[in-house]
Amino acid sequence: MDRYDFLVIGAGIAGLSAAIRLAEAGTVLVVTKEELAESNTAYAQGGIAVAMGGGEDVALHLEDTLAAGDGLVNREAAAVLVEQGPRRVEELLQWGTAFDRYPAGKDGQGGELMRTREGAHSRSRILHANGDATGREIAVSLLRHVREIAAIELMEWTTSVDLLVEDGRVVGASLLDGEGGLRMVEAGGTLLASGGAGQVYSDTTNPEVATGDGIAMAYRAGAAVSDMEFYQFHPTAFSAADAPRFLLSEALRGEGAYLLNARGERFMERYHPLLELAPRDVVARAITREGMDGPVFLDMRHVPQDLQARFPGISRFLARYGLQLGRDLIPVRPAAHYLMGGVKTDVQGRTTLPGLYAAGEAACTGVHGANRLASNSLLEGLVFGALAAETMVAEEGRDERGEGEASGAAAVDAGMTAEAATERWIAELRGVMWRYAGLLRDAAGLKEARRALDALAAAMPKGLYRRAVEARNLHVVAELIVTAALAREESRGAHFRNDFPSRNAEAEHSLMRGGRLEFVSF
Ligand SMILES: Cc1cc2nc3c(=O)[nH]c(=O)nc-3n(C[C@H](O)[C@H](O)[C@H](O)COP(=O)(O)OP(=O)(O)OC[C@H]3O[C@@H](n4cnc5c(N)ncnc54)[C@H](O)[C@@H]3O)c2cc1C
Repeated sequence: MDRYDFLVIGAGIAGLSAAIRLAEAGTVLVVTKEELAESNTAYAQGGIAVAMGGGEDVALHLEDTLAAGDGLVNREAAAVLVEQGPRRVEELLQWGTAFDRYPAGKDGQGGELMRTREGAHSRSRILHANGDATGREIAVSLLRHVREIAAIELMEWTTSVDLLVEDGRVVGASLLDGEGGLRMVEAGGTLLASGGAGQVYSDTTNPEVATGDGIAMAYRAGAAVSDMEFYQFHPTAFSAADAPRFLLSEALRGEGAYLLNARGERFMERYHPLLELAPRDVVARAITREGMDGPVFLDMRHVPQDLQARFPGISRFLARYGLQLGRDLIPVRPAAHYLMGGVKTDVQGRTTLPGLYAAGEAACTGVHGANRLASNSLLEGLVFGALAAETMVAEEGRDERGEGEASGAAAVDAGMTAEAATERWIAELRGVMWRYAGLLRDAAGLKEARRALDALAAAMPKGLYRRAVEARNLHVVAELIVTAALAREESRGAHFRNDFPSRNAEAEHSLMRGGRLEFVSF
């Protein structure tokens, strides 16, 4: 059994932001499933929302966040996010994150930071880097800083399998290394910063690491999870056979892109007065409906800008398919993008289990309510990662406990199944979720999803290798989403029920723990 003062599961913005603070108080092990730079964070394009202008600016950021969340935002969490955001972004700047700036002034000083506006933001407050590669710049600069800190050990290609629980307290985790070896790591405090779960759907903008492991591990160990029915579907992912669902940023519509249906008509006027800049869930549902009659396209042929310079990453991606912004129609369709729900935490990052903390997309403080405001999630990881770390330092300190006998929260079957069968099983689960628990839901479909998940459970991949571990986690996450979606008999934010199209008078969060679901306020 290896021992560290703190264990951080995940090396995205939340995990790295936390590790930096934790290292001031003890030894830190950061584990990540693939290379360090592979996380949702690294794929973020548009930017990070932050109110750097003080007073009114901060108040407006709070208002926009509350409005986007459709009545369900935890006000305390949102206030913490917008108020602490500027300080945390200043730190990023000190650590060398190169956000885009206007050209330097005559005095040779660096020019002012560029600020963009995105859908549902009342001000221009989105900082970006290298045009459309904000997440990569943040990840790279955080990693550069983390590598200089001796107390932090970084372990790549390592999958956390289960939490270790001793007398109801989380004391570490079991880890599967790249060679298939299992090791136990004990820690004074454990932070889940394992990101989202987009891979539970067949169509997603998320990379392969996003399988909801942290949420599944926490739930198996007895922690409460919240708001799992709220999955944000991004309206415009690239849509071509055998191509990844690459994200085509909202900023394209911000710069004037139209949406056209298969007949070449702009259709958004039938759905929302803000047309292409309507809220994400409205645009995503409109594209789904129009897409039943053929492909839907982004059209920028009328936009005069140098689009290759403004969107270099997107342009490079499209070139692989012989397409060019401003010259060609770009086929799009919605894809699962961001999980508002997750492991229930308070604003200090505490879960309902002692010794266990969570931050970033894996966590649910309620800061996004039923729908996330664009570009608020990088800020969430930065702010709540740091806060969780401060709480861990205050509550757990150095690990001076004796050599306890920790046990895995859930047993892992040691048998092996064919990897190909596991891939087929995962693909089937993802298809079921897309068909029955995606953008448009109803009781009949959700019950069908439940039946299919029960059938899949009977053939659950066994064995101790990464994909089998992920398969089991995806199943847990899928069940949580379906159960919560069936229980929420209303349409709110990202959750839309064809059979309950309007909003209930009262806004409540779903909370699930140990097989029980209730609706609560927080
Ligand atoms: C294409 C795309 C574009 C986006 N654009 C924006 C944007 O412009 N602005 C914005 O604010 N947000 C954006 N988002 C959302 C944002 O990127 C994420 O919500 C945010 O980065 C999540 O950060 P995180 O630290 O919580 O998790 P992640 O960055 O996803 O990191 C999770 C980490 O956990 C590791 N991990 C997972 N499971 C395990 C396990 N079992 N064992 C060990 N390690 C594990 C992963 O390997 C990874 O290192 C975008 C997301 C995507 C996919």
